[in-house]
Amino acid sequence: MSDRILEVKNLKKYFPVKTNLFGKGTEFVRAVDGIDFHIDHGEILGLVGESGSGKSTTGRTVIRLLDPTKGEIIFEGRNITNLKKKELRKVYERMQLVFQDPFASLNPRKKVGSAIEEVLFIHGMKDRAQRRERVRELFDMVGLRGEEEKYPHEFSGGQRQRVVIARALAVDPRLIICDEPVSALDVSIQAQIINLLTSLKDRLGLSYLFISHDLRVVRYMSDRVAVMYLGKIVEIAPADEIFKNPAHPYSKALLSVASIKGSGKGRKKIILKGEVPSPVNPPSGCRFRTRCEYATVYCGEAEPQLKCIGTGHYVGCHLY
Ligand code: SF4
Repeated sequence: MSDRILEVKNLKKYFPVKTNLFGKGTEFVRAVDGIDFHIDHGEILGLVGESGSGKSTTGRTVIRLLDPTKGEIIFEGRNITNLKKKELRKVYERMQLVFQDPFASLNPRKKVGSAIEEVLFIHGMKDRAQRRERVRELFDMVGLRGEEEKYPHEFSGGQRQRVVIARALAVDPRLIICDEPVSALDVSIQAQIINLLTSLKDRLGLSYLFISHDLRVVRYMSDRVAVMYLGKIVEIAPADEIFKNPAHPYSKALLSVASIKGSGKGRKKIILKGEVPSPVNPPSGCRFRTRCEYATVYCGEAEPQLKCIGTGHYVGCHLY
C-alpha cells in the first residue's frame, strides 16, 4: 500500500466573473492555480495563508464539493477528479469535511442523534438497532455520552462542533478535511476541540488536511505545513522546520507576526505592505513580487517553481 492517502497534482479552481453571450467564462477568479501536495496515512498537513489565499477552496475542491477546473485528485490510489455525484458517495465514506460553523451545518429541526442515524442509513446501515448503537458509540467517542436526543440549539458552540465531528466519523472515514474547525469558538473551548481531534486521530489512525489562519493551532496540530499565497503553494515543509526556518519571504512575514513557542527566537516582525492583489489579474511571474522586499525584474518575468532546499522542505522563490 502506498504511504499516501491523498495526492493532488496541478489542481486549479477558477470561478468565472464575466461571461460572453454564450455564457462561457471570459474572466476568472483564479482561487487555486496549480498546486501540488500530498498527505500520508496518519499525517496532518496544515494549510495556512491570509484570507483569500485559496485555502478553503482547496479543501472544498479536494472533497469535490467544487468541481476542479484542472488537475488530479488521487484519493487512496483512485483518481476521483471526475467522479459523478453518485460515484462520490463511496468516497464520502472515506473522506469527510468539518466546517467552521457547526450551527450552519446542523439541521435545527432534527435531534442530533437522528441526523447522524440518517447519515448511517444513507450509507447502507439499514438496521435501526445497529444505527442507534453506532450513534451511542460516536457520542461517547466525542465526549457527549447520552446527549443524542437533543436539538442543535440545546448545545454550546463547542458541543455542537463535537456533534459535527461525530457525524463526520459516523461512516468511519480515513481522511478528514478540517476547514477552520475552531475559529468560531472561544479560546478555552478551542483547546478542547483541538485535543479531541488529536486524540481521535491517534485512536482511529486518521489523516487531516487542517486548514486554518491560526498559526498557533496549526503549529500544535500539524506534521507538515503548506503556505498558500494568492492561489499558489509557496512553501511546504515539516512543521518544526518551517516555524523555525521559514524560507519564502511571504512565510517569513506571516510567521514573524505570530508569537509561537518554539519558533525562531528574537525574530524581527515583518509587516507586509500593500494589499493582496486581485486573483482575477494576479501579478506576472512571482505573485508575491508586489509586496516582496527582495523582488527583482526577473521575479516579474518567470514564475518560481517549488524547489527542494532540505529534507521535505520546498520553496518557490528565485532566491533559492
Ligand atoms: Fe520575492 Fe522574487 Fe522570491 Fe517572489 S521570487 S518571493 S518576488 S524574491
